[in-house]
Amino acid sequence: MEGSTPPWVLYVDLDAYYVSCELRDRPELRGRPVIVGPPPTEGPTRGVVLSASYEARPSGVRSAMPVAVAARLCPEAVWIPPDFAKYERVARDVRAVLRRHSPTVIPFSIDEAAVIVRGVDAEEARRVAASIQQELIEELALPASVGIARSRAIAKIATDRAKPAGIRLVLPWEAAAFLAPLPVRAIPGVGPKTEELLRGLGILTVGDLAGRKPSELMRALGSFAGELVSLARGEPREEPEGSDEPRSRSTDHTFARDVDRWEEIEETVRTLAGELASSLDRENLRYGTVGVAYRWADFSRSQRSRSLGAAREGSLPLTDAAVHLARELWDSERSSRRRPVRTVSVRTERFVPRTQRQVFLDDFW
Ligand SMILES: [Mg+2]
Repeated sequence: MEGSTPPWVLYVDLDAYYVSCELRDRPELRGRPVIVGPPPTEGPTRGVVLSASYEARPSGVRSAMPVAVAARLCPEAVWIPPDFAKYERVARDVRAVLRRHSPTVIPFSIDEAAVIVRGVDAEEARRVAASIQQELIEELALPASVGIARSRAIAKIATDRAKPAGIRLVLPWEAAAFLAPLPVRAIPGVGPKTEELLRGLGILTVGDLAGRKPSELMRALGSFAGELVSLARGEPREEPEGSDEPRSRSTDHTFARDVDRWEEIEETVRTLAGELASSLDRENLRYGTVGVAYRWADFSRSQRSRSLGAAREGSLPLTDAAVHLARELWDSERSSRRRPVRTVSVRTERFVPRTQRQVFLDDFW
């Protein structure tokens, strides 16, 4: 019966997204090393690579790499300056395709989304994934990889293993064995710092992590320890997928010219926070976390977020927190050369309906 089994999470990640968007307009570049980023021959070369085609990757080119390094590694690459408005436009078409396959589509970034599919067996879930891939390629000329699992975290890890253009299905009873040989960095949220910490404890693979007790790792990792160990054992703690509550909501503004004046940034942050607060208000949602992000002139990105401790509503707490975070982030880059700012965005998370007692946030504290 529909709903009696847990849903499948189809984690869809478009391959080399910005490059794929550009190749739609310039198909003659297919099969060649293509890099989307500020071209190193034009003006200052302190920007970073945003996306590299699979043909450029064997040379060692990766996203977020300084363009000067990428140009040295892959001198034959064709450079295309980024067009974010185009990528946003195409992303809307992608979401429309995904929504044909489920009423519940949860976007996580411009090129990643989870499609929640209910009431089908594993083979049917795999067929849905294949149709999604086929429609994205035929209608939008965009290759995608899809990971399928019962949880979002494992589906995402599976997607990374399916790239490019693959499908990877992880059945619930295979999850621990699938994860065990992977490096700890394969886990979303484990960055270089956590990797270093874990290595210090003799933990290199997800399997090593699964063999530890959360209490052994508490000192190093705090409350993240329990989450990590359950995921490593193939049983991530997640909120049930597919509730219709949004997980996060954000709004952003790209300046017509890069901005290096705090007053202008602050005014924009206030406007964005106000807009966001009124849209949450219309939906009767309170928020528990506020975040701010900048995309700098060199296209690199920094973000910072803060829990408010208890769910709030209205524009005042949101605006105060957002301005504060924006200022911290701004000051932290004072000595670096990444300024000025191209885009600023304000985000909220941890929503609680206004009618409901806020159990999880109280528990959280
Ligand atoms: Mg991608």
